[in-house]
Amino acid sequence: MARYTGPVCRLCRREGEKLFLKGDRCYSDKCSFAVRAYAPGQHGQGRKKNSEYATQFRMKQKAKRFYGLSEGQFHKYFVEAERRQGVTGENLLKILESRLDNVVYRLGFASSRNEARQLVLHNHFELNGKKVNIPSILLKVGDTVAIKSGSLQSEKMKAVLEANASKPVPAWLERVSDGKAGKVASIPTREEIDTPVEESLIVELYSK
Ligand code: SF4
Repeated sequence: MARYTGPVCRLCRREGEKLFLKGDRCYSDKCSFAVRAYAPGQHGQGRKKNSEYATQFRMKQKAKRFYGLSEGQFHKYFVEAERRQGVTGENLLKILESRLDNVVYRLGFASSRNEARQLVLHNHFELNGKKVNIPSILLKVGDTVAIKSGSLQSEKMKAVLEANASKPVPAWLERVSDGKAGKVASIPTREEIDTPVEESLIVELYSK
């Protein structure tokens, strides 16, 4: 199934939580979830089903939407997480966090993961000194992402950097080169990943 391309605010309302998919708007009083904090559609304000399966399914949907992934991509990462040593749920989150588009967003080089994906696709970054335009590349410890010198002159990039200059960077990442680049300093621990999901429910869902 392809990646969702419809109105993203519906996704927050469906999951009953702000997923911060629209950048600055998410922090303003224009946020749709702040205005209508109930699921979209005719029965959005009706009684919610709380079966075990529904809870697990919604958790998986929330994680998938948080990172802006298709069902196929998400499942592929789950298979990889299972293959790795350690706790599968934590492995899954660590893999999702290591995607290039997520790292660009976490470093404050984009206002949302969706914008990060677009900027990567449009060749605004270099990875370890080489041009890169694949948002799904998984980064390793020591990898460096830099904004291309030409892109630093664009009004769009200037506005993004200014808007996110004070945004805190997670401890496992490091801004370098006067804030024009970022480095993966370590693999994030679960405590350093603020994604609002209970990953054990996702593992239970896929283990059925
Ligand atoms: Fe979600 Fe952001 Fe839309 Fe609010 S503005 S509903 S947080 S995507």
